Amino acid sequence: MEAYIAVAALAAAVVMASAGAVGGGAKGGGPPPRAEQISKAIEILKQIPELRPEVWERLDLESRRQVLQSIENHLARVQGRPPCPIRVERMNPREFGGYDRASKTITVSEEHIASDDIYEIIDTIVHEGRHAYQHYAVEHPGFHSDEREVKEWKGNFEHYLPAEIYGMEIYRSQPIEADAWSFAEEVIKRFSEVSDERGEVKHSKG
Ligand SMILES: [Zn+2]
Repeated sequence: MEAYIAVAALAAAVVMASAGAVGGGAKGGGPPPRAEQISKAIEILKQIPELRPEVWERLDLESRRQVLQSIENHLARVQGRPPCPIRVERMNPREFGGYDRASKTITVSEEHIASDDIYEIIDTIVHEGRHAYQHYAVEHPGFHSDEREVKEWKGNFEHYLPAEIYGMEIYRSQPIEADAWSFAEEVIKRFSEVSDERGEVKHSKG
């Protein structure tokens, strides 16, 4: 029990520290370019001690949800969009998370967040946050500088191709999924390199 209290205090300190580092990310001239959004995401993730395996594995589900909410809040600020509330729910075992356009919320699978695979969990939150960014871009013409891309995203939101019906290959190559997968993969790849250098995170997969 005391461990949780200590970790909660740590989380508050981190939010204050990274607010300074991240503040002012997207004021005025729209969101920063994709590469800069990715670099800033790495900076945010590096400052969250709860993402270290020895800390993460001690956290209960609600503490874990709060860590993900904190990541989402920081990422949203960097991306110049409002943050989404994060909910934890039981989902289809094959699903890790989802972004709901109607409520503008991100749902993370209870089973997924209970696991100690930090990279997969970060991947999920960054991926779903990217969908929130795409959706915000579609609803706010002129926000995202690449008009052609926004048009593609708009069409794809209206005609989404679920994996259960169309299969993984078609699902992953539709515009909003291809973009969210590559964005999150880039973040994870670079974050894992940083973590490996610091010897903090062990790979749980081959
Ligand atoms: Zn997706």
